[in-house]
Amino acid sequence: MRLEFHRAPREGETRDCTEPWTFVFLRSNGDVCLCCHTPPVGNVREQPLEQVLEGEAAHALRSGLLSGELAPACRTCPERGSTSLEVLRARVEQLVSGSDTEQLAELRRDNYALKETRAELLRERDALRQHANNLEAEREHLRAHITNLERELGR
Ligand code: SF4
Repeated sequence: MRLEFHRAPREGETRDCTEPWTFVFLRSNGDVCLCCHTPPVGNVREQPLEQVLEGEAAHALRSGLLSGELAPACRTCPERGSTSLEVLRARVEQLVSGSDTEQLAELRRDNYALKETRAELLRERDALRQHANNLEAEREHLRAHITNLERELGR
């Protein structure tokens, strides 16, 4: 008996998977894969990565998922369950619309700005510490000066 962890998608369904839009796996021989189970969609020794990602094989894999006419590896995928075509299309639409990407870019900008502010505060703290050390040294010097003056006045 063969065990199946995920049944094959039925009519109107597809795999619940967005990997070919979000994942790139580069093998040491230059093969480019869009998930761990599908065959390579191209090779970076023959084409630039951008062309591989926009190439025929990559499009076929993605459109198979969007249409439900799945590539053989997706049909028997051990990793992903099934979902309706509408749900997957909506998820992919959201992914490619860039709203997540924009949000991520904004968070990265905020993070960078916070790091800059932190670095500036640390620089200011170090400068204040140095100033405090200088004042401390000056206080000793002034104390010695006052002692000398008092001694002179006492003569
Ligand atoms: S084989 Fe599975 S994980 Fe890979 S693209 Fe197809 S459904 Fe997604």
